[in-house]
Amino acid sequence: MGRAGSVIGVMDRPSILQALRERKTPWDVLVIGGGATGLGTAVDAASRGLETVLVERADFASGTSSRSTKLVHGGVRYLRQGRISLVMEALRERTRLLSNAAELVRSLAFIIPVRSSWEKAFYGVGLKLYEGLAGRNSLGPSEWLSREEVLAELPGLKPSGIQGGVRYWDAQFDDARLALALARTLFERGGNPLNYGGVTQLIQQSGRVAGAQIQDLETGEALEVRARVVVNATGVWCDDVRRLANPEAAPTLLLSQGAHLVLDSEFLPADRAMMVPRTEDGRVLFVIPWQGRCLLGTTDTPIANAIRDPRPLDAEVDYLVREAGRWLRRAVLPADILSFFAGLRPLARPGTGVSTAGASREHRIDVSREGLITVLGGKWTTYRQMAEEVIDAAQGVGGWGKRPSATAELRLSPEPPSSVLSSVPLHPRLPLTASGVDFAARVELARTLEDVLSRRSRCLFLDAKASLEIAPQVGRILRATLKKSERWEREQLDQFTRVVAAHLPFSG
Ligand SMILES: Cc1cc2nc3c(=O)[nH]c(=O)nc-3n(C[C@H](O)[C@H](O)[C@H](O)COP(=O)(O)OP(=O)(O)OC[C@H]3O[C@@H](n4cnc5c(N)ncnc54)[C@H](O)[C@@H]3O)c2cc1C
Repeated sequence: MGRAGSVIGVMDRPSILQALRERKTPWDVLVIGGGATGLGTAVDAASRGLETVLVERADFASGTSSRSTKLVHGGVRYLRQGRISLVMEALRERTRLLSNAAELVRSLAFIIPVRSSWEKAFYGVGLKLYEGLAGRNSLGPSEWLSREEVLAELPGLKPSGIQGGVRYWDAQFDDARLALALARTLFERGGNPLNYGGVTQLIQQSGRVAGAQIQDLETGEALEVRARVVVNATGVWCDDVRRLANPEAAPTLLLSQGAHLVLDSEFLPADRAMMVPRTEDGRVLFVIPWQGRCLLGTTDTPIANAIRDPRPLDAEVDYLVREAGRWLRRAVLPADILSFFAGLRPLARPGTGVSTAGASREHRIDVSREGLITVLGGKWTTYRQMAEEVIDAAQGVGGWGKRPSATAELRLSPEPPSSVLSSVPLHPRLPLTASGVDFAARVELARTLEDVLSRRSRCLFLDAKASLEIAPQVGRILRATLKKSERWEREQLDQFTRVVAAHLPFSG
């Protein structure tokens, strides 16, 4: 069942809600969580012809999935840990993404600058192995570079002590836009993606999970959605949903926060990324050109509880500024930070004894006694592979017979036509236009100012202050398109002002 014929699916929230209300028989699959994992899983289910609903309690990708380092990568650091099959799986998925979402994913050269010949030999050999593992998935040869070549490739690099470097190839993407492309793909294939629909209870029948109570967070309306299979893809919140099925369920997650700074592109004025494989305290640092800015990250800070809009800690900002200072010519001052953001990694807790129906060392798929399927861990790069494994596991629970996944070569829904974005930008430093705002609300289920400025466009991530400057104008357009009240517009502005404070240092 597809909504064929549309070049780009026009997603309309009232119609999606109506489809949920009117349904008399159970859906095949209900996915809880609209990040990379949930959206990928729902697309996989729909690609097999299964009738699918996805509910997200906030906006699509508003959790971890819009806060990544935005790399589609095999994971060079996993090589050091000897996790070869994981790297190969990710490299295979990298190729698929480059072809299935060509508008959103691009290959990018990475340079590792080194300060000793020992390092040059070590990383050079490691990256030859990386390239060899990629085989026909390779994006280009890795090469040793002289000191002069490294300084020419990375004009922002501090020259002192640089002996040379290694260049290798990986890919980068726009995480929130890829999530939106997945939502549109789901919709175009007959699925129903609902944002601002939170699961408050699971429905159980004879001890089996048979659906969920959903609350429409815009109106407060309660809806009952029944399904043969319920998939819990709620990332760092997945233990909360597991406990709805079984209050005794043991915790399966460890949380770790990763912070990023966004700077002017002048800090690394090149279409090349820099990778530091081992910072002073043994982490990996990326400095990446991204949408006309320079993205710097990340950290790895254990966190006790998941919150909705995590904010980089002062210690994380200090660390990133200090590391940047070791490598970049220009020192990073607080005023240089255009925006910052943090994301929470849902890491599978080792040794919790959950039964794993599908296995990789990066992610886990757990089918509970009550038939709730939980998927946890993993990364953006491998979302499709994880999704395929989840729906393979769901087959046993849903009992619909063998239906192969059709996502390996499925082209995702195209990006908005350029005519939507070709008018004059609302701000000289930001790419958003008035028609882009209208399009986001009319076609892409944007419901709030933050949805438009943070995820339909990436304005908040590119320049938090500038995005606040255009917020009143964006609010007016949004109010007209969504037919909302003046009061709504005011509340949106207040709410967005608070969000901006979580994306700027020294503001809250
Ligand atoms: C700092 C950092 C950098 C990263 N960089 C990369 C990278 O460069 N490349 C890469 O491949 N991977 C990267 N990752 C990993 C990748 O971002 C994650 O694996 C992925 O985004 C996780 O997606 P998810 O769908 O599991 O979780 P989320 O995106 O968090 O989605 C879960 C969703 O569930 C929703 N939800 C929760 N409870 C409910 C409920 N009761 N009802 C309805 N909805 C609910 C939440 O609102 C949320 O939107 C990075 C991760 C971090 C933290």
